[in-house]
Amino acid sequence: MKLAARVGQVSPSLTLSITAKALAMKAEGIDICSFSAGEPDFATPVHIKTAAQKALDEGKTKYGPAAGEPKLREAIARKLREENGLCYAAENVIVTNGGKHSLYQLMMVLIEPGDEVIIPAPYWLSYPEMVKLAGGTPVIVPTDASTGYKITPEQLRASITPKTKLFVLNSPSNPTGMVYTPAEVKALAAVVVEADILVVSDEIYEKILYDDAEHLSIGAVGPEIFDRTIISNGFAKAFSMTGWRLGYLAGSVELIKAMITIQGHSTSNVCTFAQYGAIAALNDSQDCVEEMRLAFAERRQVMLERLNAIPGLSCAKPDGAFYMFPNISQTGLKSLEFCDGLLESQRVAVIPGVAFGADECIRLSYATDMASIETGMDRLEKFVRSL
Ligand SMILES: *Cc1c(COP(=O)(O)O)cnc(C)c1O
Repeated sequence: MKLAARVGQVSPSLTLSITAKALAMKAEGIDICSFSAGEPDFATPVHIKTAAQKALDEGKTKYGPAAGEPKLREAIARKLREENGLCYAAENVIVTNGGKHSLYQLMMVLIEPGDEVIIPAPYWLSYPEMVKLAGGTPVIVPTDASTGYKITPEQLRASITPKTKLFVLNSPSNPTGMVYTPAEVKALAAVVVEADILVVSDEIYEKILYDDAEHLSIGAVGPEIFDRTIISNGFAKAFSMTGWRLGYLAGSVELIKAMITIQGHSTSNVCTFAQYGAIAALNDSQDCVEEMRLAFAERRQVMLERLNAIPGLSCAKPDGAFYMFPNISQTGLKSLEFCDGLLESQRVAVIPGVAFGADECIRLSYATDMASIETGMDRLEKFVRSL
């Protein structure tokens, strides 16, 4: 069988494959400490599940509008106005099969051969692959610990060419956990406006912030940047709804109409009764989000202290999300060797930084229970000391 050339251009998701390897070892009865998964370990809050169950019982089991249930689009638009200061109405919103699907479809409607998309590294591993699938060229801009793994306005300006169409901003960041300050967001917005390009802001971790970190949605900086902004978000991380496959994207009516057309010919609407769970998630109490955030905050403290106590590792304090991104270069190993060795010898699963465009780092998720964090850190320490 001859497969289409586009298949050869993309790499399979390394996060998913390492998570799968760890799960397979676990299934064999091997005692694994896994810090690989990018998902909260909590159950979906009860009131959200109840709302979806009720919708199921009421027969909300039929096809719905491709753009999403009108009530959910309303709820999302209200959330974006009230929480993020973004002046959107329901017609500016499309409900998708997850934040990943939002971004994939965005590339499909926006990017064509020749278009460049600026992606700061370390990046979420799907961004460049999605750009390639759309025929575009990912332009990777490396950043390092000296700027908190954040792209500077100068770096952004220097990577813009006449072919640049889009800049991908992800704050809080997966994999680094870093959060752009409001001043940094404003400075990047000025460059985007000056160059008259578009920005997509992936805000999936906006609720998971620590200490004094503040999330400013880039589109809220002013009317000029608002017109050039596309917002991608979803329910997976804030509400622990990863398996529900529910995300959304907001932008101009023209863009949303184009996305509805593509979605109408690919996935149609997102699971109808699941959307009623999402309506409850947005419209009911937000206490569950805060409870999960507090648990993450405690684990972050423990993991950070343990990591930085291991000679040869160094990790900056993340301001958001639920990841640590320590530098392992002092061990002399490349990230893939490090991760393979750690899994084989100590049965600890972490993700090599090379998957995110940073071979000198590894990613650990602390969306797991405290006991596993303690055991896993003991084993990691043993591994690094044995090198
Ligand atoms: C998890 C994640 C998403 C979206 O996840 P979905 O499950 O598809 O909603 C998007 N961006 C980043 C950076 C993520 O980590």
